[in-house]
Amino acid sequence: MIDREKIERAVRLFLEGIGEDPNREGLKETPARVARMWEEFEKMRSFDMKLFEEFGSYNEMVLVKDIRFYSLCEHHLLPFFGKVHVAYIPDGVICGLSKLIRVVKALSLKPQVQERLTEEIADVLERELKPKGVGVVISAEHLCMSMRGASSPDHLTVTSALRGIFLKDMRTREEFLKLIG
Ligand SMILES: [Zn+2]
Repeated sequence: MIDREKIERAVRLFLEGIGEDPNREGLKETPARVARMWEEFEKMRSFDMKLFEEFGSYNEMVLVKDIRFYSLCEHHLLPFFGKVHVAYIPDGVICGLSKLIRVVKALSLKPQVQERLTEEIADVLERELKPKGVGVVISAEHLCMSMRGASSPDHLTVTSALRGIFLKDMRTREEFLKLIG
């Protein structure tokens, strides 16, 4: 549950802590704005993760490339963002693209680490579609690194989670990696 009052107090204190005047014109409404934004995130997160949409006989690899996502590094509370590539080999159940996008959004809009986000997306697909296998790859830029000059903006962090046949069968895995480039 989002506690607006707590967020507002914390943001005011944070602004004071970095030497800003929380009462100046541009910052006056900031604590309330931040609280409202987290309320919006909370709504987007409460999406029902049930994924299955239709039963079909299709049993080739389903691949969705380049799903944009925006998340927040839990170590620095700065954004990390980039692209998610998702693939699965169905076992009777497939799901629509819009649902996949909403799952990615729901799992991104909270303090996260990229490795866990990758695993959580694979977990939901595995649980809801019961496919023969799942592959998830995320490539992202982390502002906590780029802004501090610890890495250049074109330096991307890549993580992957492979399940089922994507782990066991080298050909499936290679096909997936080739398709996402
Ligand atoms: Zn960080």
